[in-house]
Amino acid sequence: MDDRVTRIVGLASQAENGFLEELECPECHECAVSVCFTHPADDEYRTWFFCTACDFQTRAQNSQKPQFFSEDRRRLDLEGRDKSILENALFKKPRPE
Ligand SMILES: [Zn+2]
Repeated sequence: MDDRVTRIVGLASQAENGFLEELECPECHECAVSVCFTHPADDEYRTWFFCTACDFQTRAQNSQKPQFFSEDRRRLDLEGRDKSILENALFKKPRPE
């Protein structure tokens, strides 16, 4: 498996288990990664990971609401970006009516 994918899967599974702060960064190996969420559409959620010690950041797509999603961790600035990505993607995706 791709190295980057492996790292993201590792972070995502920690987030699913409720570990949302001080995760080990795959780039600099500091325990400095924080998790936050966006909810750009009714059935779309994203989990974002940011390292405060280096410039590592990544995001994972969720098909359901993440278990530890909370309004406190919702980032509206990122959500705007996710929304525009989604709107572009909708052209390619059949929409359920
Ligand atoms: Zn880092």
